[in-house]
Amino acid sequence: MSPEIRDKYQAVIGLEVHAQMLTKSKAYSSDVNEFGSTPNSNVSVVTLGHPGTLPKMNKRTIEFAIRMGLACECDIAENQNFARKNYFYPDLPKGYQITQDLTPICTNGHIFIKDDEGNEKAIRLTRIHMEEDAGKSIHDVDVFDTLVDLNRAGVPLIEIVSEPDLRSSQEAYNYLTEVRKLVRYLEICDGNMEESSLRCDANISVMLKGSKEFGRRVEVKNMNSIRNVQKAIEFEIERHIEAIEKGEEIAQETRSYDALRNVTISMRSKEAANDYRFFPEPDLQPLIIRQSQIDTIQSEMPALPRDLFIKYTKELKLSEYDAYNLTDSKEIALFYEEIISNTKNYKSAANWLMGEIKSYLNHNGFGIAQFPIKAKTIAELITIIDDGKISSTTASQKIFPALLETPEKSPLTIAEEMNLIQDSNEDALLLMIEEVIKNNSSEAERYKNGEKQLAGFFMGQLMKASKGKADPKAANVLMRQTLDKL
Ligand code: ADP
Ligand code: MG
Repeated sequence: MSPEIRDKYQAVIGLEVHAQMLTKSKAYSSDVNEFGSTPNSNVSVVTLGHPGTLPKMNKRTIEFAIRMGLACECDIAENQNFARKNYFYPDLPKGYQITQDLTPICTNGHIFIKDDEGNEKAIRLTRIHMEEDAGKSIHDVDVFDTLVDLNRAGVPLIEIVSEPDLRSSQEAYNYLTEVRKLVRYLEICDGNMEESSLRCDANISVMLKGSKEFGRRVEVKNMNSIRNVQKAIEFEIERHIEAIEKGEEIAQETRSYDALRNVTISMRSKEAANDYRFFPEPDLQPLIIRQSQIDTIQSEMPALPRDLFIKYTKELKLSEYDAYNLTDSKEIALFYEEIISNTKNYKSAANWLMGEIKSYLNHNGFGIAQFPIKAKTIAELITIIDDGKISSTTASQKIFPALLETPEKSPLTIAEEMNLIQDSNEDALLLMIEEVIKNNSSEAERYKNGEKQLAGFFMGQLMKASKGKADPKAANVLMRQTLDKL
């Protein structure tokens, strides 16, 4: 497609994200909520919807939904009502899902993302509601039959629905990255799109730039990574533009993304859409959320990535790049917080964490939880560099590797044991400098006659004589003073 044609159109995108809650039990029963158990092992008569069984609301799901709502500055509804969404599917044993139709627990929030120019942009949330997952139909294990695993049936979900505020596939990518970061920081969902504990349906339309009226939307499902959501949206945008340019109408339909071929395929048209016949769930009484309950949850909220980002850039004066990397994962951010509670050298702490430590972790395929050295020890290492006791080269080349071997030792002890403490003691330095000048008298003579660049040569001789232990900063000052006095 030519850039000129593409440039005539504006894409409009709204995302629906389903997140599986990390509760111990299911949404409305005590069945275990666990990924990867033996198929159909976490299935009781409640999950199966046998006559006479009754659902019971999992309190933890409500707490998790409120956490997400507070993180997105939503209004939290006082009255929680539940509804039945009826449809027939083999992996839905009850024949309906218990969801929140007209009374979502959270409304009116927003999630901040970076737009394509790198500016902050608020994406409004229409709603966040609680519901339950269906089981899983497995089509690719048995050659003849579809297999059904009902372990997932009844797993608690929150659905986060955005307003159609996104304007490019990159913005959608950024939005999903933020959603995943949030649910992970809040510890309510593991955010794993490959295992589909986080799923996204993308609604896409295009319109002529400057138009006030949105185009007809298409919904795309079955993307198992954030990158694939971006690719599917990109494919749809181009497909819509090509159709409109040819004078064709866009059919309102649901499509499925095929990652292997990077195309979307029609699944069903909206005309054939299900009539869910929502009605109030008679077996689950309405719930009331008290302000005191919300206040308690608020008081236990962890630091959020955006708050930390603002702290790192505004208070600690780190670059946006550093702040973004440090807040990318909660574990890294917490480790950083622990280092800087023991040193004020914020920049150096960031450099150690994103440099030496990250490459050690990447090299070994470790997470920060498996990093052997304590944050406090890293702070001690930074302190002895700043005190001039060791150079940063010595720290990264000698002390850091030694610390990995014996993480219980202090960096200072290791530096002493390995005889790496720099000499910044003036008298000792001065003696060495004088010795070096005496041993290189012809160069000293030339320096005296104006060849000032020879200072570098003398510094080199001094570092050699001190076996690299002279503190270069202090030595340089003293060397020039001594040479200039010749
Ligand atoms: P449905 O159940 O039909 O999918 P929802 O209300 O759950 O409806 O979701 C609608 C989603 O579609 C929202 O994320 C919304 O922002 C998005 N949306 C609505 N209109 C458009 C449009 N014209 N273009 C792109 N996205 C849209
Ligand atoms: Mg939808």
